[in-house]
Amino acid sequence: MDELFQIEEYQTDNGVFQYRRDLLTGLQCRIAPGRTHRGIDPPRASVSDGDLPCVFCPERIFTETPVFSDGTRITIGESVTFPNLYPFGRSHVVTVITASHNPPEVLAGQIEDALYGQIAALSGDGGYASCNWNSLPSAGASMLHPHMQGIADALPTVHAGIAIERSENFFSKTGRMCRDCLVEQEMGGPRHLFGEELPFFAHAVPLGEKEVRAYLPVRTVDELEPWCGLLAEGIGRVLSLYRRAGHYAFNMALFCDAANRPDGGFRAFCSLIARINPGPAAMSDSAFMERMHLEPVVLTLPEDVGNFLQ
Ligand SMILES: [Zn+2]
Repeated sequence: MDELFQIEEYQTDNGVFQYRRDLLTGLQCRIAPGRTHRGIDPPRASVSDGDLPCVFCPERIFTETPVFSDGTRITIGESVTFPNLYPFGRSHVVTVITASHNPPEVLAGQIEDALYGQIAALSGDGGYASCNWNSLPSAGASMLHPHMQGIADALPTVHAGIAIERSENFFSKTGRMCRDCLVEQEMGGPRHLFGEELPFFAHAVPLGEKEVRAYLPVRTVDELEPWCGLLAEGIGRVLSLYRRAGHYAFNMALFCDAANRPDGGFRAFCSLIARINPGPAAMSDSAFMERMHLEPVVLTLPEDVGNFLQ
């Protein structure tokens, strides 16, 4: 009867998280009470973190981060990939991008290696995968040390779901891929920033400040590898553009279709937004899930909110 809301619980090594869907609107969220244990509530004294190495620094990463079920982490170049300690996805991995704790810039080669790490961890999952990056606490990163997060789920996130479904409708109505039409329309125009084979455009209807999108000719995470070089080079150029515009905080998401379903005409795309950064020492509660996937990750179960009445 009470088919207004759908709740699905998922067990992890660190407690449970839930997928919740409002069936009236189709909107979704995730609730991960275990993430309150990350120690993010106390105000941060400083973004520099003093002189102590963090758990993502080379001194600690190989002994203090989780390992995959075979006891390993994935190391590609400087990047190190391992399971997220506080997951909110069926597969949820972290890729530490640089050995340096707080580098002045992250280079294209380092981004490329990190993408290979994400792909290696998510390939073969079959689900809806994305590679994501919150840069700086004011963009929602709980760790200053540069890192990406890869997730894969049985169902798409809100934004991925809309993009995939509408791309497939477009294809079945017109016989053309939305990606091809968009590239044709935008190429050489005022929003075309650079790139021919892998074009980067300022998005016509931005989701956030200075949104830039790259449109890939492939669909799933398993097909991404040959494109990582060009993609990483382009991401590096977008980050330089942001720095020149005075933005240091940003979010990124690379949206893919699920590998275990037929090709309906969707193609993967990578989106970046700059974050306006009034308080660099503060940690924002809006990160890639809220801003890019349009699917909030919250900490408190609605059934527990009433406990705060007393
Ligand atoms: Zn560090």
